[in-house]
Amino acid sequence: MALKVLKFGGTSVGSAEALLRATAIVRAETPEGGLVVVSALSGTTDRILQALRFASEGDFPEAKSSIQALRIHHESVAHDLGLLPDIAEVWTPLFGRLSGLLEGVGALCEVRPKTRDAALAIGETLSAHLAAALFRASGLAASFAEARDVIKTDGRHGRATPRPAAIRAAAAPWKFRIEKGELLVTQGFIGTGPDGATTTLGRGGSDTSASLLGEALDATEVQIWTDVDGVLSADPSLVSTARLISRMSIAEAQALSSFGAKVLHTGCLAPVARARIPLVVANTHRSEGPGAFRTTITVEAPRREPGSVLSVAYKEDLAMVRLPPEENLARAFRLEAELRDAGATRFAFLAGPEGTVLVVRPEGPHCEAILANLGEDGFSVERNWALVALVGEGLRATPDAALRLLAPFQLDRIGGVFSGASPISLAFLVPQERLLDLVPRLHHLWIEQPELHLETA
Ligand code: ADP
Ligand code: ASP
Ligand code: MG
Repeated sequence: MALKVLKFGGTSVGSAEALLRATAIVRAETPEGGLVVVSALSGTTDRILQALRFASEGDFPEAKSSIQALRIHHESVAHDLGLLPDIAEVWTPLFGRLSGLLEGVGALCEVRPKTRDAALAIGETLSAHLAAALFRASGLAASFAEARDVIKTDGRHGRATPRPAAIRAAAAPWKFRIEKGELLVTQGFIGTGPDGATTTLGRGGSDTSASLLGEALDATEVQIWTDVDGVLSADPSLVSTARLISRMSIAEAQALSSFGAKVLHTGCLAPVARARIPLVVANTHRSEGPGAFRTTITVEAPRREPGSVLSVAYKEDLAMVRLPPEENLARAFRLEAELRDAGATRFAFLAGPEGTVLVVRPEGPHCEAILANLGEDGFSVERNWALVALVGEGLRATPDAALRLLAPFQLDRIGGVFSGASPISLAFLVPQERLLDLVPRLHHLWIEQPELHLETA
């Protein structure tokens, strides 16, 4: 039996029209049962975060009105689908719990990570119930299945690490039901820690939920349905000429996602790589045409022209911390660990005779506070750096690629050049204000007109 896991992102479930498209896709893709993972309706996670912030600042009326707006939006989508009376029964206690959590935050004037995860999970749960109700109303044998029963994590709030063996064991009853022809609908992004508390996998983590479940269920395919045709040669919001990549390797997808391509969550490639399951990215809004618009990602690398670049990615808002050479390396390791525990992502850690350089993306007030205090220790912190990464299996075979790819930057300030953990990416640290110009320029030079450069190499 072909067991497929389909994941629908926020915009794919953000309106009645999108949900109806998703239903048609589910019907076509899972005729004998399967698993559907849905994100919260688009904008929901941001709105819950905003409400938590208002509540923690003591602005309870604003917090309440954010949640009220969220409720109105959800109810209008359910109304458009003719599902409001049925779903209201399931939703009312969920909205009640959200209000209760906000009151707790207001009383403490603080959002604890555990409370934040519990509140965010409500957004995901509202949409999974809605999708299940819609699929059922459309005649599919669908039922809601609680993700927290299966996605077991290490318990770290805000950025939990999944435990694949525990997930596989917990997913066995789901596998049994799906093999009997059921369609299960579950939440993305959330799981539970060893203490049973709700955890989240980091923003955009529903992709990872889908691929973890694909691995645990021995799925034949994991499909990520989103608002673009697939993985493109650049972020289409920055490069209007970005092209669809029809086939790519998991290593290429991993590098792109690590360097900022938001279309796939960084955690979603490892599970499908371990299980050797193809990962397909497709457009919910353009599902017609067999295979016309989609990217298929597999462990096997497609053949690439040596030296060619497949895609350009970028990551903004980076900070570069410099530690002088006399500083003990142990201090640099401690600082790196401290920043990571506070929620920062590390992009580079270079130690040499001239000192140590740490490039991180700080996230949240805790990281900011650590960085703000570093000046007192004599360390320098430079803000507003960005990474631009060129990715492609074609780079593997060409050790001179770094120099050739750098040439167009002649006049630019470069904070560093990094070759990723895999030899298929090259990343340059550049001042952030150059991104709008550099990304389209690199795309033009290396993807739209590669023959000019490959010939002269
Ligand atoms: P979803 O809500 O479906 O999870 P996301 O917003 O997380 O969707 O991811 C899709 C978005 O990723 C696209 O709308 C696009 O702006 C952005 N993106 C960035 N880089 C790329 C890329 N290389 N290819 C496709 N999309 C990209
Ligand atoms: N709803 C969550 C977010 O906005 C998870 C996801 O969409 O993947 O980050
Ligand atoms: Mg996403």
